[in-house]
Amino acid sequence: MSTVTISRRGEDRARAGHPWIYRSDVIGADAAAGDLVQVQTERGRPIGYALFSDESEITLRLIAFGPTAPAEDFIERRLAAAIAFRASLAPDATAYRLVHGEADRLPSLIVDRYGDHLVVQALSQGTDRRLPEITAALVKLLSPAGILARNDPRVRLLEGLEQTVTVLHGEVPERLEVREGAVRYQVDPWKGQKTGLFLDQRENREAAARYARGRLLDAFSYNGGFALSLAPRCESVLAVDISADAVARIRENAASNGIANVEVREMNVFDELRELERTGARFETIVLDPPAFAKSKGAIRKAMSGYKEINLRALKLLTPGGFLVTCSCSYNVSEEMFLEVVSEAAADAGAEVSLVEKRAQGRDHPILINVPETYYLKCLILRKLA
Ligand code: SAH
Repeated sequence: MSTVTISRRGEDRARAGHPWIYRSDVIGADAAAGDLVQVQTERGRPIGYALFSDESEITLRLIAFGPTAPAEDFIERRLAAAIAFRASLAPDATAYRLVHGEADRLPSLIVDRYGDHLVVQALSQGTDRRLPEITAALVKLLSPAGILARNDPRVRLLEGLEQTVTVLHGEVPERLEVREGAVRYQVDPWKGQKTGLFLDQRENREAAARYARGRLLDAFSYNGGFALSLAPRCESVLAVDISADAVARIRENAASNGIANVEVREMNVFDELRELERTGARFETIVLDPPAFAKSKGAIRKAMSGYKEINLRALKLLTPGGFLVTCSCSYNVSEEMFLEVVSEAAADAGAEVSLVEKRAQGRDHPILINVPETYYLKCLILRKLA
């Protein structure tokens, strides 16, 4: 096994429990793409074991801290542990995340379950190289009807890996049906956003359902995750998304679930909020679930003004006593920053607002307390005081 030597700064980071070592903290490496390597300090003290990348800025992803090497079959063991944890959560759904990368000690590996099918993403060289072993272990543990590798995210380019979508096992149709609570969805695992659905919002949809009532505005609705699960509790629903595909999917999902009170508009939310304000529309419940506005640190300032604008307009459209479910999935925008921007929006809207629930991504997407990057989704449930 090759050995990689890291700097004092890299050592400090690892000792603080962070599994990533950056290229700038690597002093010497004689390893090949995707190798499992031993990591040590300049003085030869063992730090742990890691998967090596010869392209990414994240050169090492630690899979074990300390002097003991991971077991031969660590992949299968960790997959089994991740799957057992999800089973213990007893999700009221047939679609949820089984493996969430670093948070399951399987760096850069995503495994999502869609009923009898699995969708996998391998986002680093080390994980990509081990896909045959990962596939074999998943087949052994879960006997899925099919496994799809949705290896098309752009981050793969940072690893020098190609963007491909391929079947790893069995068969994977273009349409899968899954259930989330009482709602059935048609999912396109081949082309849908992420691996097909925004599974990280499932528990937030459940939470939002406890407050939803009256007229609902679901802004950035994708295939209608919030709109359809909240519709039975609301008089009327207006779902807005800029994507024609998403809009078609909501209509289809609403019809197949027999949900008749949902109106769908293919619109830019920024324009639609302005238009709703102009026409004096009001809502008792509003959901804002935009895409990550700050995909990089450089985009933070612009992102903040985007969050400010939509939250300000939503708070104006909200009736007194109404609920705003507002989300940010930018990990570059911290919880503190998001709370601050929403507070500014409330002040500018002249609204007194209380924080009813402070939430994150669902428990099937665990947050590692020593890895701030893993806390990416913030979801605030707010109430505009009457
Ligand atoms: N709420 C959804 C997930 C939303 S993902 C769920 O629970 O499943 C973000 C969505 O915002 C995507 O569907 C994307 O098409 C849409 N979108 C991005 N920019 C937009 C804009 N300016 N106006 C309207 N929709 C937008």
